[in-house]
Amino acid sequence: MISQETIQQILSRIDIIDIVGSFVKLKKRGSNYIGLCPFHNEKSPSFSVSPSKEIYKCFGCGKSGNGIGFIMEHEKYTYVEALRWLANRYNVEVEETETSPEYKAHLQVADSLHVINAFAQKYFADILMNNEEGQDIGLSYLKQRGFREEVIQKFQLGYCLERGNAFAKTAIANQYNPEYLQKSGLVVLRNDELLDNYRGRIIFPVHNNTGKIIGFGARIIKKNDKAPKYINTPENELYLKSKILYGTYFARQAIDKQDECLLVEGYTDVISLHQAGIENVVASGGTSLTQDQLRLVKKYTNNLTIIYDGDAAGVKAALRGLDMALEEGLNVKLVLIPDKEDPDSYVNKVGTTAFRDFIAANKKDFILFQLEIALKDASGDTTKKAAVVNQVAESISKINKAEDFTKQQDYIRQCSEILRIEEHGFTTLVNKFIRERVSKQETKQQGPAQNSGPAPDGDFPFFSEPMYDENGFEIQGPPQQFRQQDDTINLILKDELQERSVVRALLEFGLKEWDGKRRVVDYFFEEMVDDDLFDNKQLLHIIQTYKAWYDAGLEPTSKNFLYHEDQSISSIVVSIMDFPYELSSKWKEEYDMPVASREDVYVQEVISTLNYLKLRKIKRLIEQNQKDLEQPHTSDEQMMLLQTHMHLKQLEKDILKKVGTVILK
Ligand code: ZN
Repeated sequence: MISQETIQQILSRIDIIDIVGSFVKLKKRGSNYIGLCPFHNEKSPSFSVSPSKEIYKCFGCGKSGNGIGFIMEHEKYTYVEALRWLANRYNVEVEETETSPEYKAHLQVADSLHVINAFAQKYFADILMNNEEGQDIGLSYLKQRGFREEVIQKFQLGYCLERGNAFAKTAIANQYNPEYLQKSGLVVLRNDELLDNYRGRIIFPVHNNTGKIIGFGARIIKKNDKAPKYINTPENELYLKSKILYGTYFARQAIDKQDECLLVEGYTDVISLHQAGIENVVASGGTSLTQDQLRLVKKYTNNLTIIYDGDAAGVKAALRGLDMALEEGLNVKLVLIPDKEDPDSYVNKVGTTAFRDFIAANKKDFILFQLEIALKDASGDTTKKAAVVNQVAESISKINKAEDFTKQQDYIRQCSEILRIEEHGFTTLVNKFIRERVSKQETKQQGPAQNSGPAPDGDFPFFSEPMYDENGFEIQGPPQQFRQQDDTINLILKDELQERSVVRALLEFGLKEWDGKRRVVDYFFEEMVDDDLFDNKQLLHIIQTYKAWYDAGLEPTSKNFLYHEDQSISSIVVSIMDFPYELSSKWKEEYDMPVASREDVYVQEVISTLNYLKLRKIKRLIEQNQKDLEQPHTSDEQMMLLQTHMHLKQLEKDILKKVGTVILK
C-alpha cells in the first residue's frame, strides 16, 4: 500500500493539463483546454479539460474524470498503478505503508529468490570462465557461435556442470533454503536428493527493468532429441512469463533513443545483435505476445518491428496476437529474414550495416502483410476471401485511438484497393466492428445499482430561466443541443439530480461567506438536519463525510472528494461537478450585458437546492398522509390527519414562496 503522505504529495503536484497533455494535443480555449477525445474517434474536438476544476470531460462520448482517472482509463491502470505513474512523473518518492500479511510473505519470497538468483548467476559465470569443463564445453561453444568475451560478460552468461548436483551442493553449503532453491527452478528434488536442473547447459540470466535477475533460460549444448532445447524458470513470485521480454534492461536506452523496438525470438539473437552494435532489441522467447509485453514496449516507443525467421505457418501463428498491438496504439512492422537464416546467423553473415539496411528496406506494415498472406491463402476462393475481408476489417477497427484516426482511414483506403472492394462499404464494415466492441464494453461496465454515470447537469450555461415540471420541480439537464447522445443519462432520476445539485453546492460553495457571521456550510447543516432528505446513500455519505471533516477543523473542498481514495466517491464527484462552460464572447458582445455565473449567485443556489429537497420531503409526507386518510379511521384520528395535512400544505406553501415558484392546483 502506498502511504497517505505519498498520496498527498502526488495529489499536490498533479497538473491535469500536463497529464492529459502528454497524451492529447490540447489547445487553450477560454479558461479551458480542448482537444480530440482519446476515447472515441472524432474529427472536431469535444474533449474539454478544466484546469481550475481539475477534471476532463468529453461532450461526445461522455467520459469524464480527474487526473488519476484519466491515467487509469487511458493506460488501463489500476488506481495504485496510476499513482505510481504519477509519482514517477512528478518525482515523488513512493513510501509504502503496512501491507497485508499475504503480500508481505510474497515480498519476502521474492526477495529470497532475488538473492538466490544473484548467487546462482555468479556461480555459473565463474564455472563458465574458470572451470575446466566450463571452458572446454560452455565457453568454447559460445566462442564457436561467435560471441566475444565482453558480450558474454555483459549478459552475465554462465554454464552448469554436467555432474549431478554441483550447484545444489554449493548452494546448500552456503545456507540457501532448499524450498526456495526448488521454487527458483535451479534445482529439482529426485529421490530425496536435490539435483541441478540445468545440467550441461548454457545459462542466460533474465533481468528485470532495473537489472535484477528474475530467472534463467538454459540452453542445451549437446544434441539430445529427448531433452528440450531450452528450459526456463518456472512461474514464481519473480518470474511471470507473460510480463517478460528478454533483454529490456540492456535495450531500454537504445529503444528510447531510436524510437523503435526490434523484437526477435531467441536469447542468442538479442546477444548477437548487441554484439553487432544493434542494441534496441528484445526477445519474446518464441511465444505470441501478451498485452503486458506490448505495454512494456509501449513504455519506451510506439514503433515495434518484429523480425521473423520462421516459415509461413510460424509467421501466421505469430500474427494472431498482434491485433492487441493495434489496440495499444503501436505501429507494428514486420520483417522476414531470408534464406532460412535467423537474426543471429544473418547479422554474422552480412554484418551490421547490411543488416540495418535490410531491416529498413524490408519492413512491412502489419495489416498489409497479414492481408497479403491471407489473400495468397484464399487464392480465388470467394468464401475465403470474404473471411479475409472480415478479418482485416476487424483488425483495422482496433486502431481506435483518436490520434490514430488518420492512420485508420489510410488503412481502409489501402486495403479496399488491395481487396478490390468499394471503400464506402468497407468503412461501414469497420465501423460495425467498432460498434460491436463498444457495446460489449458498455454492457461490461454497467454493473447493477451503479448510478454514478455521467450527469447531464452543469454542462450548460446559466443563462436560461429554470424550467419546472408539473410538480414545481426545476427541470434539470442541458438544452437538447447540449445533450449527450448517451442514453444512460436518462437513467438518472430527476430526484437524484436534485440531490446531486445540493452536494455540488456544498462542495463548491461550502467555505464561502454566508452572512458575515457564518459560512455556507454552517447554514447548510443548520437547515439539513434530516438524513432522510437523501435517497442516494452515496451522496448522503459525501455530505456526512464533509460534516465530519469540517467538525474536525478541516476545510474540505471538492478536491478532497475528487481525489478520494474511495473510487466510488471520486467518480460520483466527478460526475456532479459543474464543468465550467465558456460563454461565447460573441454572445457577450452582442447583448452587452453581464452574465451571472453560479459563482455570483451561490447564495440563491444554496437556498434553492436545499428548499427543493425539503419541498420534496413535504410532498412525500403529504402523499403518505393522504394514503392514511383513505383508510378507515375514528373521527379523532381523522381530525388529526386532516390537521397534519393542513400543516404540511402550509409548510409547502411557505417553501414555495421562498423558492419563488407558484404552482397552480
Ligand atoms: Zn469522447
